[in-house]
Amino acid sequence: MPELPEVETIATSLGPQLVGRRIKAIEKLDWEKMVEAPDLASFQQLLPGRTVLAVYRRAKWLLCTLDEAWTLALHLRMTGSVSVNDATFLPDKHTHLVLSLDNGQNFFFRDIRKFGKVKLLDEIGLTKLNASFGPEPLGPTFNPAYLVTQLVRRRGTLKPLLLNQKLVAGLGNIYVDEALWLAEIHPLRLANSLVEAEITQLYTAICAVLRQAIAQKGTTLRDYRYGNGQMGENQKQLAVYQQTGKPCSRCETLIERLVVAQRATHLCPTCQKAPNGKISPLPATL
Ligand SMILES: [Zn+2]
Repeated sequence: MPELPEVETIATSLGPQLVGRRIKAIEKLDWEKMVEAPDLASFQQLLPGRTVLAVYRRAKWLLCTLDEAWTLALHLRMTGSVSVNDATFLPDKHTHLVLSLDNGQNFFFRDIRKFGKVKLLDEIGLTKLNASFGPEPLGPTFNPAYLVTQLVRRRGTLKPLLLNQKLVAGLGNIYVDEALWLAEIHPLRLANSLVEAEITQLYTAICAVLRQAIAQKGTTLRDYRYGNGQMGENQKQLAVYQQTGKPCSRCETLIERLVVAQRATHLCPTCQKAPNGKISPLPATL
């Protein structure tokens, strides 16, 4: 699933193609369940004629600001991708939403597994969407002090907490594993066992892995593409994620994989010391 750096890259590349364009019509919408809000009839009535004023990201949502304070929000989930194409390029059977634009091009939302979502939000809807997420990790309200406050009072395991979008927005499996490796912290540590220095290290690591991934245009392991089908480059930089059996670049111990809260988790058993006590992770089966 695309995480913060991937959706950020998509928003950045989509902006110049969409901003200033007027959505003429919904040319195709053959998977009605992808429209989460408002109801389908309102969506079909309210969207055509709107002009795109801005394209940006919040958490893992791609947001297009439209005129009259509407926002078209798209979530790509597992296999979704978006693109802007010339009229000669026809949608295939996996392209479930096509919007024609006033310059003759078409906006495609393609999604093989059909988990992707689309919403047309008014101002209240946008406020609610924003409020459903914690701070942006590269924004001003996410800082070491915030992370200390959040973690010292929680007894939960660290990795699932970092995946919790209400604690911090936009992180997923790839960048949590990478950040924990960079900070040299084991994913099974309990949040309230971390000392302040470790939390500061974790904060720095989260920002570093995200900034690097944005600079590398995201991580393409399978489906993720941006622009007109370009792959990201960050998969070449991964330290632990899906690197099981390869030597750690810091200490050469082989990277291991275990399952934490049903998520495949990758770590260096030497750099990331296991917590004391009786935690015995399930064997990796995924
Ligand atoms: Zn290591």
